[in-house]
This record gives sequence, C-alpha cells and structure tokens, in this order.
Amino acid sequence: MKVGIIGTGYVGLPTGVGLAELGNQVTCIDREPSKIEALQAGKITLYEDGLEELFHKNVKAGRIKFTTSMKEGVSGADLVIIAVGTPPHPVTKEADMKYIHAAATELAEYLTGYTVVATKSTVPVGTGDDVEALISKKNPFADFDVVSLPEFLREGFAVYDFFHPDRIVVGANTEKAKNVIKELYKPFEGKTNMLFVKRRSAETIKYASNAFLAIKIHYINEMANFCEKTGAKIEEVAKGMGLDTRIGNRFLNPGPGYGGSCFPKDTMAMSYMARQNGVEMTLINAAIQGNLQRKKQMAQRILEAVKDIENPKIAVLGLAFKDGTDDCRESPSMDIVGELITQGANITAYDPKAMGTACQLVGNKIQYADDMYQAIKNADVLAILTEWAEFKNLDLEQAAHLMRHKKIVDCRNLLAPEKAKILGFEYHGIGR
Ligand code: NAD
Repeated sequence: MKVGIIGTGYVGLPTGVGLAELGNQVTCIDREPSKIEALQAGKITLYEDGLEELFHKNVKAGRIKFTTSMKEGVSGADLVIIAVGTPPHPVTKEADMKYIHAAATELAEYLTGYTVVATKSTVPVGTGDDVEALISKKNPFADFDVVSLPEFLREGFAVYDFFHPDRIVVGANTEKAKNVIKELYKPFEGKTNMLFVKRRSAETIKYASNAFLAIKIHYINEMANFCEKTGAKIEEVAKGMGLDTRIGNRFLNPGPGYGGSCFPKDTMAMSYMARQNGVEMTLINAAIQGNLQRKKQMAQRILEAVKDIENPKIAVLGLAFKDGTDDCRESPSMDIVGELITQGANITAYDPKAMGTACQLVGNKIQYADDMYQAIKNADVLAILTEWAEFKNLDLEQAAHLMRHKKIVDCRNLLAPEKAKILGFEYHGIGR
C-alpha cells in the first residue's frame, strides 16, 4: 500500500518505519526542513530502541523516503496518516488543533483517487468531522474518508509496540475505509484485538485510556504517601493489589509524578472537553492537581535533605520523562530540576540519552556530567528521577567515596535501602 505520513515525530517516524518494514511504500512528510534533511542524510532524529537499524534497512530497501513536500507525500497515496502534535493550548489547556487543521488543509489539494485520511494524533472527539469539512472545503471533488486510528505506543518501546500492539482501534464510518485499514493491518490478523468502532468512540477511547492510566499513577503515589506515614511498604502493597486481575500489576510504581508528552496534556484536554459538554470529571481533575503538587513535593524532599548544608551541590540522575527515551517534554525530572533552579540550587545532571533534549530546555542553568559517577562527585545529595536500568547498578560503595555528604533521594525506588543505610547513606525512597 502507498502511505503518506504527516509528521515525523515520536509517533510518525516509528509508524512510518514499521509500515515500511511490513512492505508498504511509505513517504514521511514534515514541515521541519532540518528533520527531513537529517533523515534524508541517514540520521535518525530521535531515540527509540531498535529504530535505527530498522530505519536503515528500509531506507536501503527503498521502502521509505522523506520529504517536506505535501504534494510528493500525498499524491497517489492510498492512505494518508496525520501524526502531527496536539499540544495543550497555552491558556485553555484544551488540545491545540492548529497543526491538525493546517495538515488537513494542506493535504487536501493533493488527494488523488480514493484516499483514506487517518488521524493518528490524539484529538478531541469530533475532530474527524472537522478534518472532513476542511478537506471538502479546500477540495470539493476529493474522494476520501476520514478515520480515527488512535496510537497507543509507549515511548521507549515504540518499535516493539508497533509490531506487538495490545489492540488496534479503528474509528471508521464507512465500509470502504474500514477495508483499507483492514488491509493495512493484515499482518496482525489473528494476533491482536482489532476493534472497529464509531469514529467518535475511537477518538474518546484514546483520551479515556490515557486519563485512566494517569489516575492509576496518581492513586499509587497517594498510597505511597500513606505508606510513608504508617510503616507499610508500597512495593508490597502494590504487589498485593496487582495480583488481583481486576486491578493488574502495571502502572503501580510510585514515583515523582506522571509526565511525558501525553498524560499531562491528555488529562487536561479531557477535562476541558468534559467541561465543554457539561460533564464533571472529578477523578481526572484530582489527578491533574495532585500530579502538579507531586513534583513540587519531590523538589521539596530533595531540598529538605540538604537544608543544613550551605550552597549544596545536587546530583540528578535522569532527565527524560521515563527510561528508554530522550524525550523531556513535561518530564517530572525537568519540572523538579526547574523548581530546584528557582530555589537557587547548584545541579549537575546525567541522563544516558536525554542530555541533548534537556539542554534545549534548561541550557547552562545546570551542569552536565559524562556519566553517573561524574555527576555525583562531591555532591551533597543524589536525586534519582528517571528509572533507567543503569542507575539500579550504581556502585554504592564508589558513590559513598565520591560524595561530599551521603544522602540519597530515590524518587524511583531503584536502590536497595538496606545496603545504602549500611554504607552510611541517609536514604529517602518513595513509600518505603
Ligand atoms: P512530535 O511533536 O514529536 O511530532 C510532530 C511532528 O509533526 C513534528 O516533527 C512537526 O514538525 C510535524 N508537523 C506539524 N505540523 C505539520 C504539518 N502541517 N506538516 C508536516 N509536518 C508537520 O509529536 P508526537 O509525540 O509524535 O505526537 C504526535 C501525536 O501523537 C500527538 O497528538 C500525540 O498526542 C499523539 N501520541 C503521541 C504518543 C507519544 O508517545 N509521543 C503516543 C500516542 C499518541
């Protein structure tokens, strides 16, 4: 199948590479010339495990190409996928639809023959109708259907998730469009759940899922607070809860709050949509407020650990919003670092993949280390903010020698508290 993908970000690029690997002829379009130039030159523009190899393989096979030209990517395509950003509006916090509307308008004039336009971006309910109207207005003769094809990939596992999806949700209002999507996902037939629903249901499923997961994280964080006061241990509580198949054991790791480019914006967008429709979403609103507080509380916890030290040096391990990615958008770590900077803290940070993206956000307000031991050298407190596996293997004996004061605030519960205490560390975990 000939596929055009608009937007080569964290969703568009892995999707394009994945679809090429399945044998489709893919053209990725982005309005950012620097991204396209890099991709054309064979340089991958974001970090995802396994993406680089697959990217080179498919470029070499001639199944994927990159362009800034909408015409080149859209004309002749059987399917055009919209994967542009839907960031929060700066004032209302609803999903800002300017990129979606621009993409729909720009692609319209290049549609040739029957084409399915699929929205993969996370979009408010009713967006399919708007995209349809924009295309028809610009090109009244276009023969097309708009479907909702929400994306559920996890950053850090985008390639794995592309080939092993939990479910594929398709919101299609016509049989013809449904058949095009069925053809696209034929390789997954019998291997995953494929759910065909109304377009508006598909649009809602994405927000409902993300908001639910955000609430689950907020819930376990509040339980961790409770455990800290009562002497219960959050890991044991979470394990006991997770064995109940109605609850499930995932998303029960307490931490510094949820983050990333999806949960914060999608919970706010869902809350906005609910208000617009006269529905009160008390749980989602509580999670949004609680999560904002959470990051402030974590920064406070770090500052509290060094309150008696003059001009303390804080070592931060982890800047990305989670492990396996270089994405720092809405990263709890970045918010905590921001709060610490506001309080005048002296920070040296290390992240295995996200130093470049973090640097674009905070620049020289912090110092960057080449590895974790360089970051903690002469530090007065070590704050672990992202759950990278390599931090679990931190040699605590070496850390004890390198640090000026032996204090750890482990916001991801990666280290063994008993071992840390034996080595003389003052250890603060989460809900432990
Ligand atoms: P991103 O910001 O990484 O990428 C978007 C890309 O679209 C950018 O490269 C931008 O230059 C390009 N773009 C914007 N307007 C364009 C236009 N008119 N023509 C061509 N290119 C254009 O965003 P992302 O993280 O990939 O997210 C995309 C969408 O997918 C969002 O709605 C997001 O909520 C959703 N989503 C993201 C994830 C995730 O893990 N990142 C997961 C599921 C769903």
